[in-house]
Amino acid sequence: MATNPPAPAEPTETRCAECGRLLAADETRIETEDGAFCTTCFENLKAQLRRAIQTQSSDINYPTALVGGVLGGVLGALVWWGFTVITSVSFGLVAIVIGIAVGKGVTIFSGHKRARGLQALSAAVALVSFFYASYLVTRTFILRALAEAGQEGTLPLFPDPELWIRVVSPGFQMFDLVFLAIVLWQAWKIPAPVRLAP
Ligand SMILES: [Zn+2]
Repeated sequence: MATNPPAPAEPTETRCAECGRLLAADETRIETEDGAFCTTCFENLKAQLRRAIQTQSSDINYPTALVGGVLGGVLGALVWWGFTVITSVSFGLVAIVIGIAVGKGVTIFSGHKRARGLQALSAAVALVSFFYASYLVTRTFILRALAEAGQEGTLPLFPDPELWIRVVSPGFQMFDLVFLAIVLWQAWKIPAPVRLAP
């Protein structure tokens, strides 16, 4: 006649994800994606994280970071230039690899440091790399056009600034500015410091 009332749900026990201690039912706990933490462990972890974030921006070896950035810039410029030579299309979107390669180079060579100064360095190297690469690309087209016209022509691999401007500026168009902006944004973004959410 009496039906069995459903057993009251056992309160599932929760352990601190860090120290493994059983948390009392009324104890303050901090729920995160990685589980629940007791307040002591949570404060410790937060302090550790804060220290890690501080060290990411300290003791930065800028010369090494510069080497990494320049290597990335050379690599990115070669990719863009190579793409252009193979396809015969000056496809500016490929230039985005310059921004990524420079940003990665700076980050890797600085020992995965992140700081405002590295961001500025990265963006500056990317800017120079972009303009040097656009010189290489344009130079290839000019030399090819000259050769097709049966004319001899030479352009140095490393131009002086005046020659460089004369070669690059006629072909520079509005959308090149857009690509340049994307390149700079990539290079700027990659070494950005990680911030602790408040
Ligand atoms: Zn704990």
